[in-house]
Amino acid sequence: FSYWMSRKAMVPIARSYARQKEFAADASHELRTPLSVLLTSIEALQLELEESAADLPLAHNLLSGMKQEVGSIAKLTGDLLQLARSDSGELALNRSPFHAGLAAAKAVDRLRPLGDSKRIAIELDAPTDLVVEWDEERFAQLLILLVDNAVKYSPENRTVQVKLAERTVKGERMLTVEVKDNGIGIAAEALPRIFDRFYREDRSRTRQSGGHGLGLAIAHNIVNAGRGTIHAESVVGKGTTFTVRLPL
Ligand code: ADP
Repeated sequence: FSYWMSRKAMVPIARSYARQKEFAADASHELRTPLSVLLTSIEALQLELEESAADLPLAHNLLSGMKQEVGSIAKLTGDLLQLARSDSGELALNRSPFHAGLAAAKAVDRLRPLGDSKRIAIELDAPTDLVVEWDEERFAQLLILLVDNAVKYSPENRTVQVKLAERTVKGERMLTVEVKDNGIGIAAEALPRIFDRFYREDRSRTRQSGGHGLGLAIAHNIVNAGRGTIHAESVVGKGTTFTVRLPL
């Protein structure tokens, strides 16, 4: 590329790219405050409606619909902000020692209510004494993204298995994380695209699960920040396994 473009010509391009990334980060940041104000207002209205004697079913329905939509925009905004930050190299890991098994148990516990709502058991198999030096918050986020998907894309009464292990690959100490489901699976032609931003397989089929197609892009960025790898194996109708390897 640099053979064809003079350095002078490249500078404005680099600048405009940097400005674009800044814009995405600023825009999503600016959206957060009004969204939380909206959410608080909706909740106040809901409370007032509940406490009043008036029977207003339409108001009830509209408010709960509004709350759901605001929640969805808030989630999207948070995801976009994180992606914009990692684009500008701000997603540096905050490494400090923690118990990987304990952190995984906490992350999995947060998803139990979601699992319970579909009678999906989430099993965790992790060494009790494994202390790693990584970013605990990002580690939890990564697990939550993968387990959340495993539950979302499984029919009722299935099992999701999460397995943590320490391995040495070519002399390098690795933390491996495996998230396995027996859900709907991912078609072979879709597999290479699932880590793309806004990619969702078969929109009509997955739309009801309410995601925006940013979860795996974020998971990928977190793994990249730690110079690790993430890949998926899947058989349609049988299930999917995500494997993450994080150098320690
Ligand atoms: P979202 O779940 O919000 O749509 P993601 O980026 O997390 O976005 O996932 C992208 C797509 O990959 C999903 O829309 C879905 O089609 C597919 N996918 C991800 N995880 C699984 C899974 N465990 N089983 C089946 N499909 C999955």
